[in-house]
Amino acid sequence: MSLKIPKETRFIFVTGGVVSSLGKGIACASLGFLLKARGLKVTIMKFDPYINVDPGTMSPYQHGEVYVTEDGAETDLDLGHYERFIDENMTQMNNVTTGQIYDTVIRKERRGDYLGATVQVIPHITDEIKSRIIQLARQSGADVVIVEVGGTVGDIESLPFLEAIRQFTLECERGHAITVHLTLLPYISTAGELKTKPTQHSVMRLREIGIQPDFLLCRSDRSIDDNTRKKIALFCNVHPENVIEAVDASTIYEVPIHLAAQRFDELVVQKLDIKTNPPDLSGLQAVVKKIKEPADSVHIAICGKYTQLQDAYKSIVEAFVHAGVVNNTAVKLKWINSEKLTSENVETHLSGVDGILVPYGFDTRGVEGKLLAVKYARENKIPFFGICLGLQCAVIEFARNVCGISEANSAEFDAKTPHPVIHIMESQLGIKQKGGTMRLGSYPCVTKENTLARKIYGSEIIIERHRHRYEVNNDYRRTLEEHGMVLSGLSPDGTLVEIIELKEHPFFIGCQFHPELKSRIMRPHPIFVHFVKASLKHQKEAKS
Ligand code: GLN
Repeated sequence: MSLKIPKETRFIFVTGGVVSSLGKGIACASLGFLLKARGLKVTIMKFDPYINVDPGTMSPYQHGEVYVTEDGAETDLDLGHYERFIDENMTQMNNVTTGQIYDTVIRKERRGDYLGATVQVIPHITDEIKSRIIQLARQSGADVVIVEVGGTVGDIESLPFLEAIRQFTLECERGHAITVHLTLLPYISTAGELKTKPTQHSVMRLREIGIQPDFLLCRSDRSIDDNTRKKIALFCNVHPENVIEAVDASTIYEVPIHLAAQRFDELVVQKLDIKTNPPDLSGLQAVVKKIKEPADSVHIAICGKYTQLQDAYKSIVEAFVHAGVVNNTAVKLKWINSEKLTSENVETHLSGVDGILVPYGFDTRGVEGKLLAVKYARENKIPFFGICLGLQCAVIEFARNVCGISEANSAEFDAKTPHPVIHIMESQLGIKQKGGTMRLGSYPCVTKENTLARKIYGSEIIIERHRHRYEVNNDYRRTLEEHGMVLSGLSPDGTLVEIIELKEHPFFIGCQFHPELKSRIMRPHPIFVHFVKASLKHQKEAKS
């Protein structure tokens, strides 16, 4: 292999066993949080074994939310957890799929880079996987690179990744790479005990591939007793101290605290032979206390079409948790399937909520319901927050019902509309290929003086992340403004509308970007914070 593993970097591989959805992403993010709190520079990467180049072309039902990084990569939603916990920006290098690996290897083969060799999984695919880890280590300058291997041990698709990390561990300086294996201990009520056999089997699979885990993180619904711990240690060839329990937590932000209580981070740094100071977790502890014991509670309706799968709105859900902490309130989300909203039932669904959010979306399904939700919020002066498609819906609704342009629409929903108040961006014209072609990643925006946007951000230039093809049609800007819509955020050259709000409304804001992607547990996003605050105010006023 041409790239050398940097001697100063340590690597932690995190694999999963028994079943999926055990929260490997949260485990990695939590460990990252603890190591950063120990003063280390940390980055986290995710290997996704599927063949898609990225999740950008997948339906939210398949894959949940597509998380967009600053540099415009469409990535796995686990990267959102990494950023929310460790408060470091991920890049396109932090998410690698089988599709990307094969794409690179095949391109190299076509160029003749392999000099006549037969191109094979070992060494060519595994070398490419290893080189991605090394590149990230170099580029990030991290002291510790945590590598999450997606999927479950035993999956055919994960094998090349596991083989690569086996080789990598061997090629590293001794002790510079360790493996943490996340498993499940199911509780069998008839036996009255936590069962260790699935964990034993999953570690067996891992050892067959040549990987001996250094730590086991055991998910369960209750604490592990000493005997069970000893049994797991014995059968899995792991020190009993390194069998760490990961009991269901009431909030994911408590996981680092649970892990630290078992000295997980301390044992990890010892194993990696790094000198650090103990972490100060008082900030996180205070946050968790607020999440668990809020003074108030506020109800926000989310009118979207992917409401059956809340993972599709993961970052929005988390941004509300963060914003709730600042406002010392629980934010209760009411999921409303916009396809089911009609003018007859909108009142039943939305009366009594304290705020209304219309999230992102694609295609026409469910849009009329979203327009009804916007109208309800506008007319009843309920705090409103529109994100991306939510902004576009707010503009269409306003054009139709306030400006009197009854046929106003987005060209995305009706290509022949006589009034495309939302139309395709010039830069998107003629693009046929679907993957990675939207307006993606972070762009600056200039907020207007004396607007809600300026008040919320407190600064003129802001930077936010985008993922869209359509925009507000500048031909309608004047009409919208004349009727009371404020275009409070524009691209620096003034050509793109990025934020809108309404003059005659206590809190009505729409943004073309995705603020939820930049909310972190210790640094909530200001729009979410102000939206929750306005919703609380609305609730108090409605009661009095
Ligand atoms: N479908 C709209 C567009 O492409 C909105 C996208 C979104 O909500 N992220 O512009």
